[in-house]
Amino acid sequence: MSSQGFKQLRVAVVGGGIGGLSAGLALRRAGHLVEIFERRGFDVEVGASISCAANGSVHLEDWGVDVSEMSPVNLMKLTMRDWDTGEVQGVYDLSGYEKEWGRVYFMLHRQDMHKVLLKTAISEEGAGTPCKIVNDSICESVDLEAGIVKFTNGKFVQADLIIGADGIRSVVREQIGVVPDIKSSPQTCYRCNVLTKDIKELGLVSHSYEPAIQFWGGNEGRNGRSKYYKIVMAPCSSGEVVSFYCFMPTEMTNHREEGFAFKECPVSDILKGRYSELDPNCLALLKSSRERMPWRLYVHQPYTHWVNKQTCLLGDAAHPMMPHQSQGACQAIEDAGALGIIFSSKYPEFTRDVEAGLRLYQAIRKPRATMVQAASARATDNVAERIGFTSIDIKDEMLRPTDGSLTVKQMNEYNMHHHVAAEVSKLRKSQESLHEMAHL
Ligand SMILES: Cc1cc2nc3c(=O)[nH]c(=O)nc-3n(C[C@H](O)[C@H](O)[C@H](O)COP(=O)(O)OP(=O)(O)OC[C@H]3O[C@@H](n4cnc5c(N)ncnc54)[C@H](O)[C@@H]3O)c2cc1C
Repeated sequence: MSSQGFKQLRVAVVGGGIGGLSAGLALRRAGHLVEIFERRGFDVEVGASISCAANGSVHLEDWGVDVSEMSPVNLMKLTMRDWDTGEVQGVYDLSGYEKEWGRVYFMLHRQDMHKVLLKTAISEEGAGTPCKIVNDSICESVDLEAGIVKFTNGKFVQADLIIGADGIRSVVREQIGVVPDIKSSPQTCYRCNVLTKDIKELGLVSHSYEPAIQFWGGNEGRNGRSKYYKIVMAPCSSGEVVSFYCFMPTEMTNHREEGFAFKECPVSDILKGRYSELDPNCLALLKSSRERMPWRLYVHQPYTHWVNKQTCLLGDAAHPMMPHQSQGACQAIEDAGALGIIFSSKYPEFTRDVEAGLRLYQAIRKPRATMVQAASARATDNVAERIGFTSIDIKDEMLRPTDGSLTVKQMNEYNMHHHVAAEVSKLRKSQESLHEMAHL
């Protein structure tokens, strides 16, 4: 296919999180000039473990990102445990994952992932012009007619393509006319970390730092325990840190704000209600935790649209989801992957007609991300809906997924290059027929 007529675009990305940096990288590799505007410095980056399954790392590989620099843990299994006893109820074995899907299932610390994406995006090495990062730039508004992003510091930038990667409380989302339907989730979360060296020193259970994601609870509870009690635990930072997500019914917390960076809270904020019944080994780990932060969860219904003129949404700004499928980062990476493919020299027509390219972006990405968003909501009510557990035989009837649950195969078999090529071929054919009809 000819790359004739390829136009280099000026791209403004609002938000320098994992999604924004991925978009910057994808579009830099595609030959465009990218500026990434972040509201604050990166020194405040916090976080805990983030999953990077094969559907995410396939794009990182395309962009030349060296995942080994992110201090990954290569996951070997997903383990489901009983809340009270810690007894193993089901295991999804990942030992054949790399062979089957071509890449391992990585567990990363968000800060490590962010650092390496940033480094690669701005590096002089590798294809394309290094992305320019502009910190302390809080987006205030977007003029869709003029293609201008305005910042609260009075500065502005004009661009051919504007990407709202500004997270869960996106400003760009409002500017493109989305009216979000947001409700408080019945479940809320606290994140915390335990150092593997502390686990060893204190003689706590060694299975805590094995390369596995482990789940306690998360199902319709026996003895009246709410299904919203759940722990998700996974090692990251080369196995030096074990990260915990501690879920509970929302009425157990007074924390209201949506977001990630808050003041640390005492362990007593977590160990309330039915946490007294938690597997004593897991409880002992939590008592030794640090970096404890609240993470209030809200349920966002799928948005009506993600694009308007030359502006689009990406990542959490486009499809905020409950964390239960561990796909938030991967879905943001997939969005970025789609933009990089659509605006590549393989499809030069979209670099000359950005709005048409963004319509295709929405058509490619919205159904898939919405599918994951819905599966994440289902997994709020039943841990067996988690990708991976949907493919194993679980003896306990209370822990069975419903028909039509999301599977590892659905996530990893997908080929975005093929999907885009098929859609473009349809578009080109319909344009050719219109052209022929006009000349009859
Ligand atoms: C500090 C932080 C910690 C996180 N910790 C975890 C975690 O432990 N586990 C987990 O699963 N997920 C975590 N996440 C969420 C996870 O990173 C995202 O779900 C996923 O990676 C999708 O990323 P995103 O780039 O779409 O959104 P985000 O990662 O939220 O990035 C959005 C970026 O936009 C910036 N921004 C927001 N508003 C504006 C504005 N008006 N102008 C300019 N910039 C703006 C934000 O500062 C942020 O850097 C965290 C996110 C953040 C920001």
